[in-house]
Amino acid sequence: MATFITEECINCGACEAACPNGAIFAGGAKYELDGRTHAALSPHLYYIVPEKCTECVGHFGVEQCAALCPADCCIPDPKRPETEEQLFERARQLHPGREFASLNLMTSRFRNGK
Ligand code: SF4
Repeated sequence: MATFITEECINCGACEAACPNGAIFAGGAKYELDGRTHAALSPHLYYIVPEKCTECVGHFGVEQCAALCPADCCIPDPKRPETEEQLFERARQLHPGREFASLNLMTSRFRNGK
């Protein structure tokens, strides 16, 4: 399930630069997806574009936004259940030129029970 940012967000911005997929945007900022520009998903708080979030699968063993958030407001979205394989495939699509190694404890939260 993609991660999302709750209303508890304090707009510190700690998560934005940490996302390996560039999935996090400031409130009110437009985002790009598939070559098109889209309206912000939140007018006033940082938000995550679900189509760009891989729960950090392929990159890190824990979600970087959640690890850094001082308000603990980056949490899994239960409305968007996704498998490790779906998320890994998304990571490959988001980074077409990159060679990903097989998933392990360091590159998938599904491998370490988190
Ligand atoms: Fe980005 Fe990882 Fe957070 Fe998803 S879980 S928004 S990929 S930092």
